[in-house]
Amino acid sequence: MKVLILNAGSSSLKYQLIDMNGEKLLAKGLIERIGIKGSRITQKVDGKAFDAEAPMKTHTEGIKWMLKALTDPEKGAVKSMDEIGAVGHRVLHGGERFTASVLVNDEVKNAIRDNIPLGPLHNPANLMGIEACEKVMPHTPNVAVFDTAFHQTMPRKAYLYGVPMKYYQTLHVRRYGFHGTSHRYVSKRVCEFLGLDRAHSRIITCHLGNGSSLAAVLNGKCLDTSMGLTPLEGVLMGTRSGNLDPAVVQYIANNEKMTVDEVLSMLNKESGLLGVSGISSDMRDLDDAADRGEDGAIIARDMLVWGIRKYIGAYAAEMNGVDAIVFTAGIGENNSNLRAMIMKDFDYLGARLDPEKNKTRNEAVISTDDSTVKVCVIPTDEECVIARDTLAIVEGHPIVD
Ligand code: ADP
Repeated sequence: MKVLILNAGSSSLKYQLIDMNGEKLLAKGLIERIGIKGSRITQKVDGKAFDAEAPMKTHTEGIKWMLKALTDPEKGAVKSMDEIGAVGHRVLHGGERFTASVLVNDEVKNAIRDNIPLGPLHNPANLMGIEACEKVMPHTPNVAVFDTAFHQTMPRKAYLYGVPMKYYQTLHVRRYGFHGTSHRYVSKRVCEFLGLDRAHSRIITCHLGNGSSLAAVLNGKCLDTSMGLTPLEGVLMGTRSGNLDPAVVQYIANNEKMTVDEVLSMLNKESGLLGVSGISSDMRDLDDAADRGEDGAIIARDMLVWGIRKYIGAYAAEMNGVDAIVFTAGIGENNSNLRAMIMKDFDYLGARLDPEKNKTRNEAVISTDDSTVKVCVIPTDEECVIARDTLAIVEGHPIVD
């Protein structure tokens, strides 16, 4: 079966078409600037590029262009949309309702809608993506794969905040966690790769990208994670602040005459590596600037490393040790310098990086042979998980987690 994977943002649609017979990538595309002047679609199939600028006012129009590109006689990947057996959608927030991927029906759509207050930027876009597919491909089943689902095994002591219980009971205020599909994939893959018994394993997964989160995965289940009610909590990120004393919000709001919404927007979009360094949200730029001795870059990078080290220490404590530490996503997979900074002086835990092995960008063990904790790079593959879940659900097989 050919499965289409859709990741809908507020003004963009990323997609991949995968032939599940051999899990072969057939097409990869991006639609940008939906509803904004200059909307554009770019697609790659076997080195052939489809590139068009066309007005796309809505996600439905974007999906129509995607179908046009996928079925293009010269640059497309399929003859007709009938060849596509199912669509798997990445959905940000499943709240407490979804602990696994599900076949989309009206009830599921309503639940995604109900969770809009928890994921105000992404859930409406995810829903638009689903509804656009229903309109344009009415006979093709849709599956929703939630970023939050993997973290639903966290115990109450890990997910509750120290606020009056009524806010959890009435407003569902709690830690949900994100990047769940990635944490799920790499925590499982590292066990296969190292030959560990997943049912008796203690893994710390570090998904370090533009948005970053860590997870403690005990015996294959998420025990704790660094992101919270929203993706703002946790370590310093590209433009997000990560953890801070909530009183900072009030203090800045009062002194700068800003609303809470304005402060939150600043914490999401103007903070983190960008805000601290005053240079860039991209780690590559900061590495270059740090090499030139620019203080903003040096301190921003040090803060990121500091925060990640704190979580690793905390998660090792929660699990009474750790068997493997995994690095993944843009920074985790590619930035050996940052990995070396993070893993420095972890001898007390039994983790020691091998500088030669650490040069890799591929799936590899990067710790020394005598390191009792294995440190690994495992490239993430969220699309693969979405595609496998989608296939299992439409074929009526149990999901392999
Ligand atoms: P997102 O969270 O938006 O998916 P990524 O996972 O691509 O983003 O992570 C973006 C970060 O990863 C940036 O800070 C960037 O510096 C870093 N990064 C991505 N690709 C590379 C690369 N090839 N080499 C070094 N750093 C990279």
